[in-house]
Amino acid sequence: MAQEEVCSRGFLAAYLHNSYANKDLGWVVGVADEVVLWLVGQVCRVRQGLKIGLGLKKRCQEPFAGPDKAIQVESNMDASLSPPVRQGIKLYRELTRQHSIVRRARSIARSGTAFLLSRRAHVPMDQDWILFPYYHHVFDDERRGFERHLKYMRRFGEFISLDDAVEAMQNPVGIEGRYFCVSFDDGFRNCATNATPILVDHGCPAAFFVPTDYVGKELDADWDVLQHFFAGARKYGALMDFLSWDDCRSMVAAGMTIGSHTCGHVRLTDLEPEELERQLRRSKAIIEEELGAPCVHFACPWGRPGRDFDPDRHAACLREIGYRSLLTTDRGPNFSGTSPYAIRREETRAAEGTWLLRYFWTREAA
Ligand SMILES: [Zn+2]
Repeated sequence: MAQEEVCSRGFLAAYLHNSYANKDLGWVVGVADEVVLWLVGQVCRVRQGLKIGLGLKKRCQEPFAGPDKAIQVESNMDASLSPPVRQGIKLYRELTRQHSIVRRARSIARSGTAFLLSRRAHVPMDQDWILFPYYHHVFDDERRGFERHLKYMRRFGEFISLDDAVEAMQNPVGIEGRYFCVSFDDGFRNCATNATPILVDHGCPAAFFVPTDYVGKELDADWDVLQHFFAGARKYGALMDFLSWDDCRSMVAAGMTIGSHTCGHVRLTDLEPEELERQLRRSKAIIEEELGAPCVHFACPWGRPGRDFDPDRHAACLREIGYRSLLTTDRGPNFSGTSPYAIRREETRAAEGTWLLRYFWTREAA
């Protein structure tokens, strides 16, 4: 077992992870991970304070403590002589390491409760529906979890592209089956490096919604711009690399869909009519110009109906501009006749156990 793996995960969690990786007992790993990572974080903090070098310094550093402190300086570089090198985080545990004890406790409680409640829940197989699981990232240490999610979905239905899902919901014949339409918001680089190869392997044509102002931005060169993004999306608390247009073109060539997430990742209800029009039209035009194909799908930033967008006014505006769908963050299944301008989605993370998927799928079923 690699030394850094022991350092960051702990013996117990590493053992459990290996033992139960492909079983539905991953919740044990989740709980153990949370506890061990918290303990490791405390030890690293104390050690860093005392400046004790144990040869594990680079691994145990906490490079991202928040948007305004999120600078990682290469450990072998004298910062007074060279400019700092800013790097996006690669691991989910680097993200969770920054979470407070309260947030971790809440996460454990939520996960444990969902696990217990999901034991007796059954995904409705006597109905036709389309579920839209959506993600934000697949970090390097989430790849196996993401693959597990896709395999789990296939136990209940088929994968479907966003184009086909929108058409099926409007088809007078009905949906005729059970489908999963996977999507990603915000356009982080690990969508291309980690998620897309796995999606291709599993025959899943997913949709990716990008805020066009941030596509192609690099942490080092566009620091101020990206600070602005993460200041507005505090749940990340750390910086990540964004997709480039070349990444987007490769993903389209692999069968994926690229949709709009506005230009600047803005809340629609905050915008004056002229700016609203600009955000929706310009992001569409840029994507079409860069990819050479129509952009007809839109995912609303934050996506809560009545809070982040007006279901009537903004849906009408999107339709007029030429969008064929509006994806929200309301949970629940979509049925035949569901408006494509009020698509419900299930937010999830690849690191979460499949019981959480089952819990939400069954809880929201009609
Ligand atoms: Zn977003």
